[in-house]
Amino acid sequence: MNNSSRPTKHIFVTGGVVSSLGKGVASASLGALLKARGLDVTILKFDPYINVDPGTMNPFQHGEVYVTDDGAETDLDLGHYERFLDLNMSGKNNATTGQIYEAVIQKERRGDYLGGTVQVIPHITNEIKQRIRRLAEDSSGYNVIITEIGGTVGDIESLPFLEAIRQFRLEEGRRNTIFIHLTLIPFIPSAGELKTKPTQHSVNKLREIGIQPDILLCRTAYPLPKTVKPKISLFCNVEQEAVIEARDVDSIYEIPLIFYEQGLDRLVCEMLELKADRPKLEGWTKVVGGIRDPKDEVTILIAGKYTDLQDSYKSIDEAFVHAGVANEARVDVKYVETDKLDAETAADVFSGAHGLLIPGGFGERGVPGKIEAIHYARANGIPFFGICLGLQAAVIELARHACGLEDANSMEFDLMTPHPVISLMPDQEDVVDMGGTMRLGAYPCRIKEGTKAFQAYGAPLISERHRHRYEVNNHYRKVLAEHGMVFCGLSPDDKLVEMIELTEHPWFVGVQFHPEFKSRAQRAHPLFREFVRAALSYKRLHETGRRRGRVDRGESQPSLPESASAPAGREA
Ligand code: GLN
Repeated sequence: MNNSSRPTKHIFVTGGVVSSLGKGVASASLGALLKARGLDVTILKFDPYINVDPGTMNPFQHGEVYVTDDGAETDLDLGHYERFLDLNMSGKNNATTGQIYEAVIQKERRGDYLGGTVQVIPHITNEIKQRIRRLAEDSSGYNVIITEIGGTVGDIESLPFLEAIRQFRLEEGRRNTIFIHLTLIPFIPSAGELKTKPTQHSVNKLREIGIQPDILLCRTAYPLPKTVKPKISLFCNVEQEAVIEARDVDSIYEIPLIFYEQGLDRLVCEMLELKADRPKLEGWTKVVGGIRDPKDEVTILIAGKYTDLQDSYKSIDEAFVHAGVANEARVDVKYVETDKLDAETAADVFSGAHGLLIPGGFGERGVPGKIEAIHYARANGIPFFGICLGLQAAVIELARHACGLEDANSMEFDLMTPHPVISLMPDQEDVVDMGGTMRLGAYPCRIKEGTKAFQAYGAPLISERHRHRYEVNNHYRKVLAEHGMVFCGLSPDDKLVEMIELTEHPWFVGVQFHPEFKSRAQRAHPLFREFVRAALSYKRLHETGRRRGRVDRGESQPSLPESASAPAGREA
């Protein structure tokens, strides 16, 4: 049904007690349920830090930088929104304190405030509200905008945002706005009890600044005993049916169904007087079923640099979950620090793995190990998927070990290399300032028919998102092609190499873009899907080979698939 003539309704999501409770996933899950009811929904994230965007932040500090079609470098929660809602976000779906102040200061410098004193209230709070309204006016008409306030209630930084949403309700009215607060009910082992006090305090903190939550989402490791909901309801002044249990789950994709079972979407629609269809949840049931009951499993090695931090490759991890469901398999992702990878250790590191993925990255640390890993995968017919820096490393590997271009390198790592197979484009070479020189956001790519890339996408023209500075150097296309590299994806003007693959290999694909940003829970990315399929074939071939080997030769040495005969080695 179409509600577009009605006013946009607003849901504000805040978090209390501790950080990392999963506000992003909770917002995305509620959004998914409302979308499944036929409503037009989008999500806006406010980040209270002062950086203008997370683009300049170290992944160790902030996790992955998520890139939207329009080239905005945003918070990784936008990835959850896209994956759960199957929608494209834009830079307008994320704003930081830095951006808000930047806009206000620019207006002040222009004299827009006519000599008035510029203050947090009303100038900063007005700017915050305007960002919400701008999104509401932006589209063909959203029925619902969910606004997630980053940080934890009680933080100094979040205050202007909380004040702004308090004012927002005053202006838009109770039927058009609701407040949802995500909190924690910790289990205290010595008392053997779940405790509600931190939630009471957190709600009190909100009420001090004039916000009474309408719904509480209670994160808990255990089911809430019968007595707990009435207690929370009484002390927090929230109706009992609006106290929702948000139990820890094995997979985040179970959360929409768990919320649905407790009537969260129905409650929200009632409170906001939203007329909507019953939710269509078959897609979600299928995803959850696929995750719970895989028919096979496969191990993928990821050789990266930020492997200690859980969130630094978030979109890649999730893309593997989606690709697993599409292949009825569980994808076990094994991270390996490339610092520790060399010719001696490679075989050990690869033992038990059925595919290698090299993710994006910046800087030289770990690159030699990546090249070593790629060489091993190429020589042994192990499926390989290179993303951004992963493609660049694959080009360097082939140049050095097959084309005889010793010391071939990327200009990012060696300005003096005799063979800059990865370099800046001629029009970039004079740029001294590194900021703003990256190729960011969606670019079209034309795919050659008859290639593995074409087989995956099933389309001649695609669009993918970029975030990098360097490109394949076109001077080396010829020699690389002579040694089996196919430039299967090019920019429509043929000037930029967007995808490569190898002819003499079961599945060896590199992409200059970041496909992981476009994988969706109910629509796996075609390249991840095909990569996992190739890894499964590799595994099956190998297992058969191993079994046959035992019978035929009386030994248990694995035999390689025929197509995996070693390509020209590094001596070539
Ligand atoms: N560092 C490389 C470049 O700037 C790759 C970037 C990436 O992997 N995102 O081109």
